[in-house]
Formats: sequence, structure tokens, C-alpha cells
Amino acid sequence: MMALQSEIEWRGKRVFELVERHLEPLFSKAGLHQRLMVLSMRDEQLKARLFRLVAVLPSLRTSAEVVEHLREYLTDTRDGFAPFVRGGVCLAALAPWLSAGAVRWGVSEMARRFIAGKNPRDLVKTLRKRWAKNIAFTVDLLGEAVLSERDANDYAARCVELLEALARETRGWTDPLGKNSGLFPVVNLSVKISALYSQMDPSAPSDAIAHLAPKLRPILRRAQELGAFVNFDMESYDHKNITLELFKTLFTELEFKDWPHAGIVIQAYLRDSEADLRDLIEWGRVRGTRFAVRLVKGAYWDYETIKSQQNDWDCPVFLQKPESDANFEALTRLLFENGSAVTAAFGSHNVRSIAQAQALADELGIDRSRFEFQLLYGMAGPIKRALVELGYRVREYCPFGELLPGMAYLVRRLLENTSNEGFLRAKFAENISEEELLRDPRELISADAASPLGSPTQATAQDRRYQNDASLRAQRGDIFKNSPLVNFVYKDNQEKMQSALREVRKRFGEKYPLVIGGEKVWTDQLTPSVNPSAPDEIVGYGSEAGIAEAERAVEAARAAFGRWSRTPVEERAHLLERAADILERRRYDLSAVEVFEVGKPWKEADADIREAIDFCRFYAHEMRRFGRPKLTQQVPGEESYHHYWPRGVAFVIAPWNFPIAILCGMASAAVVTGNAVIMKPSEQSIICGAMLMQVFEEAGVPPGVLNFLSGRGSVIGAYLVDHKDVDLIAFTGSREVGLRIWQSAGVTHPGQRELKHVICEMGGKNAMIVDADADLGEAVGYSIYSAFGYQGQKCSALSRLILLEENYDRVMERLIPAAASLRVGNPEEPGIMVGPVIDEAAYRRILDYIEIGKKEATLAYQAKEVPPHGYFIPPTIFTDVKPNMRIAREEIFGPVLSVMKVRDLDEALEVANGTDYALTGGFFSRSPANIERVKAQLEAGNVYINRSCTGAIVGRHPFGGFKMSGGGTKAGGEDYLLHFLVPRVVTENTSRLGLVPEKTPEYRAEFLWPKPK
Ligand SMILES: Cc1cc2nc3c(=O)[nH]c(=O)nc-3n(C[C@H](O)[C@H](O)[C@H](O)COP(=O)(O)OP(=O)(O)OC[C@H]3O[C@@H](n4cnc5c(N)ncnc54)[C@H](O)[C@@H]3O)c2cc1C
Repeated sequence: MMALQSEIEWRGKRVFELVERHLEPLFSKAGLHQRLMVLSMRDEQLKARLFRLVAVLPSLRTSAEVVEHLREYLTDTRDGFAPFVRGGVCLAALAPWLSAGAVRWGVSEMARRFIAGKNPRDLVKTLRKRWAKNIAFTVDLLGEAVLSERDANDYAARCVELLEALARETRGWTDPLGKNSGLFPVVNLSVKISALYSQMDPSAPSDAIAHLAPKLRPILRRAQELGAFVNFDMESYDHKNITLELFKTLFTELEFKDWPHAGIVIQAYLRDSEADLRDLIEWGRVRGTRFAVRLVKGAYWDYETIKSQQNDWDCPVFLQKPESDANFEALTRLLFENGSAVTAAFGSHNVRSIAQAQALADELGIDRSRFEFQLLYGMAGPIKRALVELGYRVREYCPFGELLPGMAYLVRRLLENTSNEGFLRAKFAENISEEELLRDPRELISADAASPLGSPTQATAQDRRYQNDASLRAQRGDIFKNSPLVNFVYKDNQEKMQSALREVRKRFGEKYPLVIGGEKVWTDQLTPSVNPSAPDEIVGYGSEAGIAEAERAVEAARAAFGRWSRTPVEERAHLLERAADILERRRYDLSAVEVFEVGKPWKEADADIREAIDFCRFYAHEMRRFGRPKLTQQVPGEESYHHYWPRGVAFVIAPWNFPIAILCGMASAAVVTGNAVIMKPSEQSIICGAMLMQVFEEAGVPPGVLNFLSGRGSVIGAYLVDHKDVDLIAFTGSREVGLRIWQSAGVTHPGQRELKHVICEMGGKNAMIVDADADLGEAVGYSIYSAFGYQGQKCSALSRLILLEENYDRVMERLIPAAASLRVGNPEEPGIMVGPVIDEAAYRRILDYIEIGKKEATLAYQAKEVPPHGYFIPPTIFTDVKPNMRIAREEIFGPVLSVMKVRDLDEALEVANGTDYALTGGFFSRSPANIERVKAQLEAGNVYINRSCTGAIVGRHPFGGFKMSGGGTKAGGEDYLLHFLVPRVVTENTSRLGLVPEKTPEYRAEFLWPKPK
């Protein structure tokens, strides 16, 4: 082992020696690029702003816009930017056209460093020059985010054209080493798999492969005919399994089985990478034909860590840089040891990683012509030259295309060059010693963080619970942890969901009772709940309550209230936590019920169960906070404690669109605050309601504290709202019903003890504004999801897309094909985005609105094909929509999007705010000033910037609107429970004959009598 280390050091030093001979600074060309790099390495804040600015520049059309963005990004004195930066920007404002021109020129120059050409002629010129220096190439086609099948087909066609052009232009080029050249064709294309299918979904690998394979076959055939090589690049983790599977599927097919010129990437920063590589090698051996692997560390480290933190997922990448380095070395060995089956390429700029591969190849007797080093175009020039001089194969990865689509690539390279942990910065900017740079990475792994539990995102459920019990004084955001979403990237999870769907199907047709005072109650009347994807399928039957059962439920609740209201907070909180655990355990089962009963796609169903779990844990936590009487002021001789009492009997009325989450959220809030509850699910989601009741029963809810009453809103709903013994009504649903409840609850009935309190959450007519400088890929992608995800049936869904006229054509050009590419179908199948609407009445109502839209506005798009049975509405887009039209004012609650064109941001805000509703709203922009303005002025309870306007998370995005969207409550927020409570203050004169106790404690025990044993 020691010998290998010495060998690595020796080889590394040799590379460094040669690097010194042709030394160039990391950022060779003087000018904007160099200055940008130097500045950004000094100041992380400034770096973020500079790189964001670089990303937006190509989409700005006028000089004034460029100067305005310079000012907005760089003159914020709060961050204390260098005075010369501010000075420069002020100067720029004096001659906008000149300075804007200079900035644009600087950015294109910078892009040119990393992009090998913007047209085939430029590209070939570059490649020829590099070939003359014995540097081979692989070309990567840059493109904008692929949002539609049109974009994907276009990418596939460009790949074939590029292969042909390269084959034509490189005719006669000979192998730089003249040895083992059969392994390394001259023409080499790197393909981005995600660019070939716009609807790639990790939960649906079969669908992805079924769409990707037919697009790839013509590319591979042409490559075969032309004697070229095709490499599958590896992207983010959610595409990894599909890419590997696709590779194996295609290259096992008869026509490609004997073709050796296919390669794939393995990312050593992934914890899975060794298992994946072993699996590939085994597959390759069975296949019997050589293939290639490009080993890299991986380009998406920040993205993967952020994404897993946001979703509370296990982090798929190593968290310590030396872990990735050490794994790279271990996989290098694995590749060499299997050199008879696989050709290795090492994609790294790290001299230690490179030297280890060299030393190992020698140790194992592998000729240097049998593998290659691959480096990125525009980076690490001296290392490439050194490797060529040492007689190794060197291939450059050459991105090709226009600047605008290339910006994401450019920014990734800038980040890589300036990354704190990166080799290039360490060597070329920070002059770290060679010895340090060549150290064995295994020595640098710190023991604590090496274990998978080192990840901050990998706290177990138990840890989380423990944290939930932590000090009341700690910051709430630090204590409460959301339940992780199911990650359908994993096959195991996909199988669990499939199996749950099969199991739930077996239970179709079962009957579910009411639960009153802890007893199961059956009535003569049974309500069938049907599958909206296949209305002849009955998911189950709910017993239908009438007035008699409603009355019984009130009595049961009233009887249970006294005791429950005096039950210690801790016990009540524990009940919710037990319910959360059961929900977690039954997660797949409950999601499957939602898929069948309300037509939720897999991920949406899982998110609903996650939200229910979060509500239980969050409200348990919040109740501990509210549950302890709190001293109002520290005054000698007197103590006043502010605390809360429950209101009494709560009637919870929930909708079908979040059939478990919303019902659970309102019911659990009412229960934990000490109220006794009657919960009524929607008539369309009785089975989900019954499931939730089962969960609470299993959790041990005392009889009468939670009663389950399914039945018709017009009968039992109206009766209970007016009931003198109902003290609180928590409603989520339509505006029409909500306003009726609001009004009825205002009437006081004989014998009524309390003023009825109403928590009322209603719909929205949500708007998204797209600014002139928005990232259109993001704006279109998120708008499509916000408008058509769960068929537009979320109250937060986007229904009005407001486009600045400057951008209008460009957005529409991408929006319509993106809508046309959506997968509409039965959500039992994974990866479906648009399923059926809830029932026939909704189906007819939405179709009526579409007819209204056709008369009022212009039908710009409507899907042609939807499944023939079931309540499927084709995704529909209207343009030329004006604010006074019905489709712009009334809630449609289906997959119908109205697009409105406006002059500027003033008008956009006026239109966005010009409705009766104020639930959610969104804005896409890269102008810091405009973003601030919209944050301040958009009338919505939840304002989302540069993201979708749906998908609120408990605790993180307290949810609810105002105006006609609701009474201003925020479900999942820190003040929500207060709506279920009445405040009370108890004051005691504590001085006796002038004697006063010492300092009064800030919190005291609950006022409970009789005291709990
Ligand atoms: C020719 C070529 C093709 C490539 N193709 C792909 C591809 O298809 N897919 C892809 O994903 N990448 C690809 N890459 C890799 C990627 O673009 C980066 O260039 C590469 O990861 C940088 O590694 P390095 O060995 O040059 O530098 P180093 O500085 O040694 O390593 C930097 C890398 O270490 C990892 N890292 C950083 N911080 C941490 C941390 N805290 N914990 C753990 N790991 C950390 C990251 O992967 C980071 O990129 C390719 C690279 C090259 C040269």
C-alpha cells in the first residue's frame, strides 16, 4: 500500500512539474472572467450575486435593462460590497449602451472559454486545433430545459445531425497514440438522457424507458454506421436508475449487443456507485461485449444535498469531499481489475485522482493506450498538456451551442472553479502545497461524519420525536422536523406502492360505519364511493348519517368534552403523535386509497399523507407551547397567567381534494386543544375519512372525543352548523358553502352557550406573474405543474398566468408544447400528472366553463386524447383572457388555465390583485427590485417567488388566504391552534402583609382540577 502511495506521489509531482512549465493562472485570460473569479473567491455573498447576474444577462434585451440589473445586484450597501464594484456600476449608468455592451461582451467571452463553439463550423475549428495537440473530443449539445416532447425530438434530431457533421469533418483523422485505437473512435458524442423525454419521472422507469429507447435507437444506429462512440452522461440522482436501466436494456438488444462503442458515467460521489458499477460489470460480462465507463465524482453535489435536505431524504452523496475522492480511487481499481470487460475513462482535474489511476494502471500492468483521461473544455489546460506529454490519452468534453442555453453550464463551471473544496481552486488559486494535494484521501475522512448518520438529513423518526420534545425555548424551525416524502427513485418504494394498490383493490366494496361515542354505527343508507378513473368501480360504501345520528354525535361529543378538556396537554399531544406514527406505518396503504378514491397521482397522494403526519406532530408540538400558562408581566406581589381553554364541541367539515390531510389537520387541531370533535369527510372521500378514523381509534382516542359522521352536507352539515351545542366550525371547501356557514353561525339559537367560532378556508383564483427577465424554463415548468398537477384541483392551483407582453410569445411558444406533453391517465399508473376530476358533477361543470371560455376568449390549446372512460378533462389553455371574463374571475377547479397579457408589472399586479380571492400567488423574475415589490404588493395569503404556487409544507409554509379565500387562518402555522381556543387570564394577589414571593416563574403548571394522578 505504501509503495502505491509513493508511486502516486511521484507521478503527481511529475504532473505538477510539467504543469509548472506551462503554468497559467486558473483563470488564464485577463479581463472580466479573471476579475469575477477573484472577487467571488473573496466573498461568498458577492459570488452568489455575481453568478446570478451572469445567468440572467443573456436574457436581457436592452442596455437599460442590463444597467438596471447591474445596479440591483451589485450596489446593495447592506452587504458591504467593495466600493469599486459600486463605483463601477455608477459609472456604467452614465453610458448604458457602452457599459451594457462591455458587460455582454465580457460574459460571452467568458462563455467562449467553456463552450467549444456556437455553430458547427466554430466547433470543428476548435476540435481540429485540439486534435493537432493530441487532444480528442466528446461533444455535448447544450440546450434549454426540455419541457416538451417537441424539445426532446428536436434534441434527438440535433444529435443525429451532429454525429453526421462530425463524421464528415473528421474523416482521415488518426488516433493520437496509434495503439488500441479500435477502442476509441474519433467521433464521440455525449448524450443527456433527460433531454430526450420531457416527462421522465423516477417513479415510472418503465414509462421512461418506453419513451427514451425509441428516441435513442436512431441515434445509436447512425453512430454505429458512422463508426462513432456514444456516451450516456449522468445527471441528477433522480435520473440515475433510469439511465442505468436504459443503458442495459438498449445494449442488450440484438442490434446493439455486439457494439462496443457505448459508454456510461458512474458518479463516485454517490453512495450507491460501487454497487452500480459492480452490477454494470456483471451485466457487461453476460452481454459479452466491451463497453466503457467514464468515472467522475459528480457535478450535482450542491443540488443533491439541498434537495435531500428540503425533502428530508437520505442524502445520496457523500458529505465529505475526501469520501468522494477515496471512492473515486476505489472505483478506479475496480475498473482496471475488470479491464477485460470495460474500458475506463477518468473524468477529473484532480492531480491526486489522476496520479492514482496512473500508478494503479502500472501496478496492474495496463497499457496507457487502453484507458483515457477526460477533462472539460476550457479548464485545467496545463494538466491536459502534461498528460499528453506523458503519453496518456486525453479527451476533452466539449459543450456546443448558443450562449443562452449554455448559461446553466457556464455557471456550473464557474461554481466548480471557485468551489471551496475543489482541487483547481486549491492548486491554482490558493497554492496549497503539492504534498497536501497528493495526500491519501482516506486519511482525511473524519470518523464522525463518515457514517451515514453523519448526515443532517438522516435523523431517524425517533430522533425527530425526541427533538419535538425539546426545550420550549428553542427556535421552532429547529425543533420541528417534517416527515420525509417517499422517494420514488427507489425501486423498493415503487414496489411497496404497487403492492399497496393491489391490496386496496382487494378491499373494494367494503362497508364503513359511522363512529359515535366510540361505537360503530351502521345505518340503512349506504353511500357508494366510486373511482373517478373508472366510475363503475366502487371503492367502498360509507354509512350515511341522518339527523338522528348527528344529534347522537353532538350528545356524545358534549359528554366527552368535560373530561377531555381537563386531560393534560401532554396526554393530548401524545395521542396525536401516536396517530402520526400509525399514519406513517400505513402510509402506502392510505396513499393507495387516495389514488382510487380521489384520483391522486402517487406523489400527490404521498404528499397528502405526509401532510397529515406533519399536522399531527406539529400541532402536538404547538400545543405543548400553548398548553402552559404563561406569566404576562413580572410584577412584585401579583401574578397573572395567560392561558387557554378549549371552546367545546367542534364540527369539522373537510373537502375531498386533500382527503386525509385537511380532515386530519382540522380534526387533530381541535382534538389536541381539548375540544370534542365531530368530523365529517366530504361525500366524495368517505373511505379516506373512515381510514383516518381508524387511525385515531388505534391511537386510542377516548370515546366521544372524535366522532366520525359521514353524510350529506345539505342534511347533517346544515343541521350541525345551526346546532346550539356546536361551538366551533372548522370548514375547508367552496366559497358558496363557506359563506353560508359564516352567515348561519352568526345566528344565536335558544340555549346556545357560546358565540360560534368559524374557521373558514375557501378557494382561490390564483395568479402567477412572469417578469420580462424570468428564467422561462423555470417559469413554464412550474406554471404547468401548478396549473395541471392533480388536474388543477388544489385550492392553491394556478388558474391565471399573467405574462408581460415583452415575453408573451416566448412563453407561449414553450407553454403549449409543454402542456401537450403531459401524461393524462389513470393515476394508478406511476408518473401520471393529470388524472380524472373528482366526479361527474365536477366533470360537467368544468366542461361548461370550457364552453364559456371558448365564447369569451381564445382556445389556445386543448389535449386531444384523454382516456375514454372516467372523468378525464383534457388540459386546456385559453389566451386573450381579460380580467372581467368569467373564466378569469370564477373558480373552475379543474385543468383549465387562463393566460393574460399585460403591458408591465404595474398592470400585472393590478390584474393579479383584481379578484375576490387572495389565496396563493406567484412571481417569476430575476430582478431583485421587482421581486421585493411583488413580495410587498401581491394580495395572497401565500406568495411564492420563482417556484410553483402549490405544495405548502406544514410549519414551513403556513397555509391559508384572506378576502374571499378565507378568514385569515394559517393551517400548519404557529397561530393556528389559537382559533380552537379561548384565552383566559388568572390573576392572584401574592402579597401577604407586605411579604412578596421572589421572582414569579415564567411558566406554571396547567390549571387542572381534579389534578391528574
Ligand atoms: C470530462 C468530464 C465529464 C464529466 N461528466 C460528468 C457527468 O456526466 N455527470 C456528472 O455528474 N459529472 C460529470 N463530470 C464531473 C463534474 O463535472 C466535475 O468536473 C467533477 O466532479 C470535478 O471533480 P474533480 O475530480 O475534477 O475535482 P475535485 O476538486 O477533486 O472534486 C470536486 C468534486 O468533489 C465532490 N465534492 C465536493 N464537495 C464535496 C463534499 N463536501 N462531500 C463529498 N463530495 C464532494 C463533487 O463531486 C465535486 O464536483 C465530468 C467531468 C469531466 C472532467
